[in-house]
Amino acid sequence: MSETIHRVNHEIKQRRLHVLRVTELTPRMRRITLGGPELAGFTSLGSDDHIKLLFALNDEERQAIDARSLGRDGAARPTMREYTPRRIDLAANELDIDFVLHGDGPASTWAAQAKPGHTLDIAGPRASMVVPDIFDSYLLVGDETAIPAIARRLEQLPAGRQVLAVIQVEDEQERQPLVSAAQVEVIWVRRHDEDLLALLRNLALPQGKLYGWVALEKGLTRQAKALLLEKGVAEDALKAAAYWRQDGTADDA
Ligand SMILES: Cc1cc2nc3c(=O)[nH]c(=O)nc-3n(C[C@H](O)[C@H](O)[C@H](O)COP(=O)(O)OP(=O)(O)OC[C@H]3O[C@@H](n4cnc5c(N)ncnc54)[C@H](O)[C@@H]3O)c2cc1C
Repeated sequence: MSETIHRVNHEIKQRRLHVLRVTELTPRMRRITLGGPELAGFTSLGSDDHIKLLFALNDEERQAIDARSLGRDGAARPTMREYTPRRIDLAANELDIDFVLHGDGPASTWAAQAKPGHTLDIAGPRASMVVPDIFDSYLLVGDETAIPAIARRLEQLPAGRQVLAVIQVEDEQERQPLVSAAQVEVIWVRRHDEDLLALLRNLALPQGKLYGWVALEKGLTRQAKALLLEKGVAEDALKAAAYWRQDGTADDA
């Protein structure tokens, strides 16, 4: 098969959306369903696409959002955070974003207080990384911030594919149901009682042509990637991304 992993660029568009619903998924995770006329045309082809959520921490940032000047040379920039479009239903005009409620931080604070009628400004996705169905098996490693992307990928995979997902969560209550036609094994790893890296070191990799994907805190991502390369995961079939930073805000990254 000639298909390869490829990037599809999109026109970056800023949208002002309205909160339609708030759903508690777990004690630490909330789904915010957004909608409104500006959602029309929203495109997200890759399961780990991300959009920028725009927040105003002062008047200048508020003006930047209202002026929709993102990307213009010399324009002020709002505070931005990256999130996964968890579910898009253009027929119903709905976009779900699942937020980890981790405490301080513009995005987490906004999500903790969000109510129907509130607005959220978003931009993107700028591009989608499309992983065609050319692999026999998948190793997906992430924490709560990566569950939206993992869940999307699992929903897209067909029967006959084998998936091993290793997901680090705060505690048992943070496990979420995951749906897939593929054959899926999920190992839930409790953050404070279990050693994720030791588990990865001793893991038996799924058989066949493997795609590896890692999305964790920055330091853990680096270590997990090195371990998987050591274990023989092919570099061109491994994507590793830092989804958050222990030692600072995402804006510093
Ligand atoms: C491509 C991509 C997709 C992502 N998708 C999602 C998603 O769908 N859902 C989601 O919840 N997150 C997602 N994230 C992670 C999210 O962008 C970060 O957690 C971000 O830092 C949250 O912003 P904030 O404003 O709440 O906190 P920040 O202002 O960035 O950070 C404030 C403080 O909180 C700490 N912090 C940040 N995130 C966490 C966390 N998860 N757990 C514990 N402490 C934390 C920081 O270390 C800092 O001390 C994604 C990240 C990337 C790169």
